[in-house]
Amino acid sequence: MKRFKKLLAIVMTTALVAATVTGCKSGGGAGTAEAPKQADSSKVLVGSAIYKFDDTFMTGVRSAMEAQAKEKGSTLELVDSQNKQPTQNEQVDTFITKGVNALAINAVDRTAAGPIIEKAKAKKLPIVFLNREPEKNDMNGYDKVWYVGAKAEQSGTQSGEIIADYFKAHPEADKNKDGVIQYVMLQGEPGHQDATLRTEYSIKAIEAAGFKTQKLAADTAMWDKAKATDLMKAFITGQGIGKIEAVLCNNDDMALGAVEALKAEGYNKGDASKYIPVVGVDATAPALQAMKEGSLLGTVLNDAENQGKATVNIAIAAAQGKEINKENIGYDVTDGKYVWINYVKVTQDNYTKYIK
Ligand code: BGC
Repeated sequence: MKRFKKLLAIVMTTALVAATVTGCKSGGGAGTAEAPKQADSSKVLVGSAIYKFDDTFMTGVRSAMEAQAKEKGSTLELVDSQNKQPTQNEQVDTFITKGVNALAINAVDRTAAGPIIEKAKAKKLPIVFLNREPEKNDMNGYDKVWYVGAKAEQSGTQSGEIIADYFKAHPEADKNKDGVIQYVMLQGEPGHQDATLRTEYSIKAIEAAGFKTQKLAADTAMWDKAKATDLMKAFITGQGIGKIEAVLCNNDDMALGAVEALKAEGYNKGDASKYIPVVGVDATAPALQAMKEGSLLGTVLNDAENQGKATVNIAIAAAQGKEINKENIGYDVTDGKYVWINYVKVTQDNYTKYIK
């Protein structure tokens, strides 16, 4: 009997140890364990890395993400990847070790999303990308990856239409009367889908409206206002300001930078004979102010609020193990993976609606 009791004790202890070990495994955290699911939204922790905090548009998205996480009672941890992909990769590792329930990533280099997706996949951790779209192949390699963004073609088309409408209403804007719109283009970061497609589709739209175009100069100013002022100054020096009939910019910060350079030449300050139409994308607060003062012709709303909100809604719902559909996240889902937020054309007719 004594021996039997001793045996029983050994068996039970072994079972207990085994249970503890398995318990740890399913609890997540270290090793090859699965990421923990979290039914209660107030217990969800989302880890989010933003390509760089010092970006006007992404600052708007960040605020929207914070507000939405607060609304849902979840915790959102935001980190600044400082425009360095290796830094972001380390931040992802740290989030995973910490045991976050979902990731929300604004990739520094969108072509580097693959390895990040692999890391999430190894833990069955849901991952949402935003603003910088991973390549299709990478998106298709995992069933818990989503993308929230906006169709860059649409913003390009709308900004081109703003320019075309201006030339229809102001034939005198064709300064040399050659029937061709001579333009300069200030582009975003090379490789960013928004830079490539906005550049392409803005010109397509101007031409679809019946205008001929001529590119005088085009270069990147990396989404940055100060760089755009320098670049625009170089364009003015290189081309002569009298030749430039339109300035197209892939975002508002660069449009505002270009406006600074024009102002330094006495342009876009109220004298109708010294005006060159400038168009941007984003509808940031300073851009709307520039529209109010008349130095910026128009912009396109890049809806930071809804992009931030959709990202957080997906991350939380996925962390809870819910299906990602309109009912659960409040936004239409395309191909089970994509949430597309519409752009809106912002002109003199409607810009006041967007001033907060
Ligand atoms: C915005 C830019 C921003 C970039 C960051 C674009 O969609 O229009 O203003 O710098 O995203 O990735």
